[in-house]
Amino acid sequence: MQIPFNKPFFTGKEVDYINQAINNGSVAGKGEFTNKCQSFFEQKFGIKKCLLTTSCTDALELATLLLDIKSGDEVIVPSYTFVSTANAFVLRGANIVFADSSNISPNIDADKIEQLITPKTKVIVVMHYNGVSCDMDKIMAVANKHGIYVVEDAAQAINSYCNGKVVGSQGHLSAFSFHETKNIISGEGGMLAINDDALVKRAEIICEKGTNRSAFLRGEVKEYSWMDVGSSFYPSELTAAFLWAQLQKLDSIQNTRFELWDTYYNSLLSLANNNAFYLPEVDENNKGNGHVFYIVLPSKNHRDELSAYLNSKGISAVFHYLALHKSPYFSDKYIGEPLPNSERYTNCLLRLPLYNGLQTEEQDYIIQAIKEYYK
Ligand SMILES: *Cc1c(COP(=O)(O)O)cnc(C)c1O
Repeated sequence: MQIPFNKPFFTGKEVDYINQAINNGSVAGKGEFTNKCQSFFEQKFGIKKCLLTTSCTDALELATLLLDIKSGDEVIVPSYTFVSTANAFVLRGANIVFADSSNISPNIDADKIEQLITPKTKVIVVMHYNGVSCDMDKIMAVANKHGIYVVEDAAQAINSYCNGKVVGSQGHLSAFSFHETKNIISGEGGMLAINDDALVKRAEIICEKGTNRSAFLRGEVKEYSWMDVGSSFYPSELTAAFLWAQLQKLDSIQNTRFELWDTYYNSLLSLANNNAFYLPEVDENNKGNGHVFYIVLPSKNHRDELSAYLNSKGISAVFHYLALHKSPYFSDKYIGEPLPNSERYTNCLLRLPLYNGLQTEEQDYIIQAIKEYYK
């Protein structure tokens, strides 16, 4: 049996909606499907303003323009995350101050943030691994106390809730991804959620290449002009039409993922209880969105051996991020403390295949292979 790590899921309606966009006679951005998708998120998740972008990376770069990040600003970023979380700020000349993950999850350790704040700190960036929320109450309290912004890398966190709140609704800005590896996809795609009223108007201008075209299209001004800096951020209607098809199936996509996730968890619990590896902590009030199923092995050797064994059985089980503070780009610039948890997840975390379309027999085969390995 050959089981890939991920297979993009198609609902079957994508091409219909793309055809509809073509029949609408206009396929540039900001048309009917873009509006539908944005309204969907605003209504379902109660977010003030959602702007579709061409990727989460793009949404993060839009955020850095919106917050006027400049050379010399300091930005606190977790080391254990995707490169774009930090790179978007590096592009604007910011100095990255890397923070460690917590002991119990790959998320940033909220208790270790305040000690990294200096008078130059402009933003705290957090990333919600597997859609499980970071400790936002604590993080927002620290940020408010020091008058700094919070940007959430919610790339993995679509449709996640924590204590009844939507993940991505608490920081000033949140960036989501619809890359084909995520729960809801549009090939490449992303979204910036703007939770701070004061940032909405300028976000629209930056998103419109620095013009007030959005106000013009609403009939608020007679002509549109160059008002501010900006760039091209929004996707075409073809991408939005694709995304709309996915959003129609959001609940069923999520249910399937949760079922697969729970099956892994329940089936592997006895091995975890025998200390073979650690399972993710489960908190019913903050259970993520079934994006990733991962285990944490006791050492890199254990991880690499299990990974090689599963690969030899045709199962693609893969590691995840490599600590950014140790990356070839950054390691010689890093002057902070060691970040042992970031290194631990770099070395010891292993992800199992999880996608809509993973068959019951296939998942059983994966679970049996792991059990056999530990026999
Ligand atoms: C996937 C991912 C991104 C990048 O998303 P794109 O849409 O591909 O730009 C950024 N951050 C995290 C945490 C991710 O998982």
